[in-house]
Amino acid sequence: MIRDTLGRELHDLRISVTDRCNFRCSFCMPEGEQYEFFSREELLSFEEIATFVRAVIPLGIKKVRLTGGEPLLRRHLENLVGYLSELPLEDISLTTNGFFLKEKARVLKEAGLRRITVSLHSLKDEVFSRLVGRNVKVSQIIEGIEEALKVGLKPVKVNVCVIRGVNDGEILDIARFFKGMGVVVRFIEFMDVGNLNGWSLERVYSAREMLELLSEHFELEPVEKSYRGEVAQRYRYKDDGLEVGFISSITQPFCGDCNRLRLTADGRLLTCLFAQDGPNIKELIRSHAGEEDIRDFVRRVWAERSDRYSEQRLELIKTGIMPKKVEMFKVGG
Ligand code: SAM
Ligand code: SF4
Ligand code: SF4
Repeated sequence: MIRDTLGRELHDLRISVTDRCNFRCSFCMPEGEQYEFFSREELLSFEEIATFVRAVIPLGIKKVRLTGGEPLLRRHLENLVGYLSELPLEDISLTTNGFFLKEKARVLKEAGLRRITVSLHSLKDEVFSRLVGRNVKVSQIIEGIEEALKVGLKPVKVNVCVIRGVNDGEILDIARFFKGMGVVVRFIEFMDVGNLNGWSLERVYSAREMLELLSEHFELEPVEKSYRGEVAQRYRYKDDGLEVGFISSITQPFCGDCNRLRLTADGRLLTCLFAQDGPNIKELIRSHAGEEDIRDFVRRVWAERSDRYSEQRLELIKTGIMPKKVEMFKVGG
């Protein structure tokens, strides 16, 4: 177990396996920008990622989530899931845009993936296509979710990034639709990740507003956090016991409990979603360092950590000087 300067224990690891994506979501990778992606040689191989994870488990890592860019663009991702499933982890999960999920769900499950989160921000083809910057039918993503349920990925969750004036009018419909499918929805406040997505406070539809809206139509009761550092505020529908969650990183920051380390596809360690950069561990892994050397590196990074951007955001906005931040598709959420 290791603690940072604010006493927060390392617990979760989020691994981005690629910075490429087949979507161009307006809130993450807006169209019209020039993007540079890592070359193949720059990416950590699956063996290198597995070496890293094996090394850091004794430091307290219990949960690993694979993300991207779009993680299902990384060929044979199931091989990485297979490597990780042999390690003593409590949880291996994946966040995906769902485009390739119908064809990949079974092989991922068979490789050892436990659960999955699919991002879907609208039930209307026209709104969804505009939001993701590509002509994509909502039904294609729903079919992926159905396949995930069918092969036994449990639970299947859906992430909805809510943007005022864009999809806030669909919150109830989305909640109702997925309640009917037995799928847990997590409504996420639109965040100011990266530097490109045109974020402003006025465009944030707050978790409190979402909860109030849902409470007018459903009987909800709060659910206890299952561990310190859990980011979603969880509620349960009283009639069927299904959960629904809200992620309020703008209006109710949770930095005090933040216990997550992020590994980028090119081997950087980021101690905050809003970090500018972080030290790269790839050379150390490629020099065939032992696990203890990798642990020492991570210990040092974590021991120096003092990030609490979401608690400082409003003050920073007032000063008018915003730090340059890593883009969401590089860090993976
Ligand atoms: N491509 C995959 C996907 O979209 O699920 C995984 C990576 S994506 C960066 C991870 C999560 O971040 C997704 O659920 C996405 O909706 C969310 N996200 C991206 N940009 C966001 C923003 N500006 N505010 C809130 N959530 C955001
Ligand atoms: Fe791609 Fe996910 Fe970012 Fe959308 S949110 S552009 S699907 S990485
Ligand atoms: Fe953690 Fe940084 Fe988010 Fe705060 S702003 S909760 S430190 S990732």
